[in-house]
Amino acid sequence: MAGRIRDEDIALVRERTSIAEVISDTVTLRSAGGGNLKGLCPFHDEKSPSFNVSPARNVWYCFGCGAGGDAIKFLMDADHLSFVESVERLAARAGIQLRYVENDQAAPRAARPQQGQRQRLVAAHAAAVEFYQAQLGTAGARPAREFLAQRGFDRAAAQRYACGFAPDAWDLLTKHLRQQGFTHDELVTAGLSRPSRSGTLIDRFRRRLMWPIRDITGDPIGFGARKLFDDDGPKYLNTPETPIYKKSHVLYGIDQAKREIAKQGKVVVVEGYTDVMACHLADVPTAVATCGTAFGADHISVLRRLLLDTDDVAGEIIFTFDGDAAGQKAALRAFDDDQRFVGRTFIAVSPDNMDPCDLRLAKGDLAVRDLVARREPLVDFALRHVINRYDLDTVDGRVEAMRRAAPIVAKIKDREKRPEYVRKLAGDLGMEIEPVQRAVLAAASGQPDGGAAAAPARAARPAPGADSPMSLVEREALKLALQEPVLAGPMFDAVEAAEYQHPVHVAVREAIAAAGGAAAATQGAVWVEAVRDACADLAAQALVGELAVEPLRIDGEPDPRYVSVTIARLQWGSVTGRIRDLKSKIQRINPVSNKDEYFALFGELLSLEQHARALREQAAGGL
Ligand SMILES: [Zn+2]
Repeated sequence: MAGRIRDEDIALVRERTSIAEVISDTVTLRSAGGGNLKGLCPFHDEKSPSFNVSPARNVWYCFGCGAGGDAIKFLMDADHLSFVESVERLAARAGIQLRYVENDQAAPRAARPQQGQRQRLVAAHAAAVEFYQAQLGTAGARPAREFLAQRGFDRAAAQRYACGFAPDAWDLLTKHLRQQGFTHDELVTAGLSRPSRSGTLIDRFRRRLMWPIRDITGDPIGFGARKLFDDDGPKYLNTPETPIYKKSHVLYGIDQAKREIAKQGKVVVVEGYTDVMACHLADVPTAVATCGTAFGADHISVLRRLLLDTDDVAGEIIFTFDGDAAGQKAALRAFDDDQRFVGRTFIAVSPDNMDPCDLRLAKGDLAVRDLVARREPLVDFALRHVINRYDLDTVDGRVEAMRRAAPIVAKIKDREKRPEYVRKLAGDLGMEIEPVQRAVLAAASGQPDGGAAAAPARAARPAPGADSPMSLVEREALKLALQEPVLAGPMFDAVEAAEYQHPVHVAVREAIAAAGGAAAATQGAVWVEAVRDACADLAAQALVGELAVEPLRIDGEPDPRYVSVTIARLQWGSVTGRIRDLKSKIQRINPVSNKDEYFALFGELLSLEQHARALREQAAGGL
């Protein structure tokens, strides 16, 4: 295992790296004047750009959430890489050969198996892409070539998307990669090979047409594989979850589409690899597809940053569906995933129930462009879909349709659009506006955050039980601070004692602060002793001893991602508590006689709710 990268090489990487280019791979930047650039922060939820990049000083900083650093730090935070991995990725980009120094200290903690792992797994995939591509020219790959040709893809198209063929053999790829120096463990971790029942290593994909799946920067991180022979199991297989392949984030084609998505401010979400290819070739260069999973919140956050989705710049997401029930269901589910996007989500359903690939084959490129151009707002689509299920000729049918449709209108985030949709719905149902409006208002107030009943004030709220979810999260955060202060310190220290709910946890958090804070600590018994000494009472002292040895609730070594998820969950609990309190307070204020206070609290509530959403996203980011 390689040791530490030489300091002068790290300095060289910093010097030769264009921070604007690195960040532009994931965040759309525009001029902020004075040579600086700005965009939407990838680390918190925001509507107007407070994420700033200074190419002259080679740093970035977010005025919204306080995150900041150099290019190395950006990759660590944005792509969840280790320091070494970030440096390695930037070095490869800048064409710098890194030199390593062996650790002369006692053996480093076993905690560094991650060193350079990402780069190795990407390199294994790059070699696999070449291998599969070469196989596509062999005699055995004829069904794969025919499949592509039958769908209108010539050799140039196959090359552009690096399509390949996994041969009809047990371990050709595995042997090939082993010869290139990739280890047994690397191939298994990458998801390229798997152990057979007899224990030998075999290829994961056999007798299939292969599409390399790349991350936003173009690094190959996985494969989509389509079966070509009837008896070969599921139609599509994908790379399993690996350290570099997370299906909830992956979008096929995003490496090729990202510039156009940013430029046009729109993205077209299709369902398959061939649909992405067909769209791009038909001059709809903004198409991407999810890989083996439904479109979800993580995909949205990847796209929002490209779309620069702000109050003054509105991005569009267009879903294409071939009109079947599954597609419609997926479209309607988009409501639940992310309501901020409802007003900017469009549906394009092909009139002949054809997907873009079929459509291009049958009717040509223009038909694909037309399909996208004829998009319909998601709200209209959803309302039509619901209303169509009822017999509007009967009073019962109309009333039931109204009840089902009202929640959809109530969910429209853009409140100014609501009256318009109330009128439209009333018209479609053939009813008066008034009852429809009442139904929408009732649906709106029934929502979780819409008008929650008054909660008791914070001081009166009892401490959560020791085994409540919140209590477990608090314990976990304290364990990280005691057991992994070097890793967790800075993030842990940023959360104050007041954000803990369980009194004894508050006491331990205060003791950690009194001992100088986790960030200043070094690993080991001295640190735990210092915290124990700083405890104000025996209960806290006993708990410190307990938490210092209790295993973390994660398999394997904790990483920055685990710390960030744990801390986000902790803060989320505290923020939602404050939201409850604030709501109750607002309800008790007379908005007429105490206008200033009312608006101040209301503003606070809005920003807390935004904070809570960002934390929920962060907290969902890993476990
Ligand atoms: Zn930020």
